Amino acid sequence: MSREQVPVCALVVEDQRDAQAWLCLALASSFPGISVVAADTLRDARARLISSPRPQLALIDLGLPDGSGIDLIAQIKRDLPQTICVVVSIFDDDHHLFPALRAGAQGYLLKDQPQEQLIELLQGISHGRPPLSPAIARKLLGFFHAAPPVIANALTPRETEVLSLIAKGITQGEAARMLGISTHTVCGYVKEIYRKLNVSSRAEAALTAQKLGLIS
Ligand code: CA
Repeated sequence: MSREQVPVCALVVEDQRDAQAWLCLALASSFPGISVVAADTLRDARARLISSPRPQLALIDLGLPDGSGIDLIAQIKRDLPQTICVVVSIFDDDHHLFPALRAGAQGYLLKDQPQEQLIELLQGISHGRPPLSPAIARKLLGFFHAAPPVIANALTPRETEVLSLIAKGITQGEAARMLGISTHTVCGYVKEIYRKLNVSSRAEAALTAQKLGLIS
């Protein structure tokens, strides 16, 4: 969906019936005449993506009975790059927010907000405004306001090198070859980096590396 365009078809992926009905209603109020297809599971959503008209907008819950909505977002962004994917979740923590954004989510809405606010945020999509709940927008801003120099100083120069390589998607084996050290040693550095940065995945380490200016 391009900017300044009203979605005519939407997909709602949500396993809780109350929440699903709430989202369908919000979509109908936001975009009168919109056709909404609802799915309860990832499997159902994948089937609908093939059988129903292509949605311009997808509202996706993260905790689904057969997996994570994040996988669905990644799939939609790959197969239907024009479709705007918006997370609708009760989770506002970094472990849900950042991987979802990394997968390609273009918005993140929390379920605990009033219907009018939800409608306003949804309507903003047709004017090119990314739908973000205020708490999420604050969290994103806060992430960049966190004190990176402390973290930067915590890493040794070698750890910083390793981090900048793995953050670019280079494998530990390749990094070992590039640095002229063993893969085993690189593994040790990675463990230490994760511990110092208090992260548990390459994606989070990459985000922190970006924040530190190690990669662009
Ligand atoms: Ca759920």
